[in-house]
Amino acid sequence: MLLEGWGRFPRHESEMLVASAPGELAALLHDRHGMIARGNGRAYGDAAIGSRISVSAKRLNRMKAFDPATGVLTAEAGLLLSEILDAFVPRGFFPPVVPGTKHVTLGGMIASDVHGKNHHRDGGFGALLQSLKLVLPSGETHHCSPDENTELFHATIGGMGLTGIITEASIKLRPIETAFITQKTTVAPDLAAALAALDAADNVTYSVAWIDCLAGGGSLGRSLVYAGEHASRSEMEAARHGDMLAVSRPARLSVPLDLPGWTLNRASVLAFNELYFRKGARNGDAAALVHYNPYFFPLDGVDRWNRIYGRRGFLQHQCVVPPDNAHAVLSEILERFARSGRASFLAVLKKLGQGQGMMSFPMPGYTLALDVHVRDDIFTLLNEIDEVVTRAGGRLYLAKDARQSRATFRAGYPALAQFQDLRRHIGVEGQIASKLSERLAI
Ligand SMILES: Cc1cc2nc3c(=O)[nH]c(=O)nc-3n(C[C@H](O)[C@H](O)[C@H](O)COP(=O)(O)OP(=O)(O)OC[C@H]3O[C@@H](n4cnc5c(N)ncnc54)[C@H](O)[C@@H]3O)c2cc1C
Repeated sequence: MLLEGWGRFPRHESEMLVASAPGELAALLHDRHGMIARGNGRAYGDAAIGSRISVSAKRLNRMKAFDPATGVLTAEAGLLLSEILDAFVPRGFFPPVVPGTKHVTLGGMIASDVHGKNHHRDGGFGALLQSLKLVLPSGETHHCSPDENTELFHATIGGMGLTGIITEASIKLRPIETAFITQKTTVAPDLAAALAALDAADNVTYSVAWIDCLAGGGSLGRSLVYAGEHASRSEMEAARHGDMLAVSRPARLSVPLDLPGWTLNRASVLAFNELYFRKGARNGDAAALVHYNPYFFPLDGVDRWNRIYGRRGFLQHQCVVPPDNAHAVLSEILERFARSGRASFLAVLKKLGQGQGMMSFPMPGYTLALDVHVRDDIFTLLNEIDEVVTRAGGRLYLAKDARQSRATFRAGYPALAQFQDLRRHIGVEGQIASKLSERLAI
């Protein structure tokens, strides 16, 4: 079948195998080459497309055990984050790390070592992971944890599925009193103010900046910076809110078909950004109670929103750069985008801490994510921006990548040789391979 990621670029033919139980995997994988696990296909590029075969883990979605005293949940790797939230928010528990969509699987979150708005404080998904089970093409199952098969554990966190198929994992959920977040908005007139507001929120659990990346000149990097904490019962009572642990199922809009590529053009994005910024600025400073759905997963409100970029799809360029010189480096990236006239509907800036895995994306610094249409002339601009990132000692996120060069990748991931040695040592080289690992020669 023809497979694609969330950005719908690139598309590749791949055979699809579906695993319904962990016990089936040994027979399913036997004597096959060029396979990769696939979760819910939310990686943007080619990470979840097998070089020949993609193995869907979505039916491995049973919850196996939960201990309310410790918050530890053990579940199969195809369980969706949305299912974890639906089951555990009403019981007063929340996953300590969530990405910007809840339509991702447990296995996908481990394999990308996903980061949330709290990476600067709590680390990535790997930090809350207690243990996992990994099946190799040979049929062997390895139990991995910080104390058992340690190297394999750290290689699997952020290893983009390239160490084997994760079948089960245990994660520690955090207790919450309510399903709401107390959000405070800071209006940052430029990039320096946005970075300062993120730094000032170092001790706040969640922080993120939404950048109007069409603003140039003295307003380059103007942002709304959102800081948030899980709301307490008393805050909810003071605001006279009713159901404190409601899961809430907001009405979902849907993009029913591919919109023409020009729908998102400079003028429409400019108008949207202006309205959005003004509305945020009006609400600035006052603390607001926001349900976790719009706070963490605003884009999930529109089903299949990836269609608004048209049939050719879109790319997300997500880099992280170290803190030294970050202002100059991020300014250069934003300026190059602004100059090129390539509208980015979404530009998000976050602060990151140390990554947990051998190949994890996060490093201490700031991460900037920008979306762009796939067009023939976009690749040269992105290559130039990659050079800026590499010169600054940064790297690109593999879960968003569809196009970086081998040179950019090698410069950004110094543990690559160790990861390749481990793949050889466990005998998965060649057998476990994705279009991404082929493209980047992992
Ligand atoms: C709207 C949106 C917002 C996002 N926001 C964020 C964010 O804030 N932070 C962030 O870090 N990421 C973010 N992402 C990226 C997303 O969280 C990751 O790509 C995640 O890995 C997707 O999970 P999935 O289940 O869809 O996995 P897939 O896309 O199917 O696969 C992703 C990778 O995981 C591997 N994998 C999947 N299942 C298994 C398994 N069982 N065993 C071994 N390997 C496996 C695949 O081989 C592949 O390499 C966002 C994505 C979208 C679409």
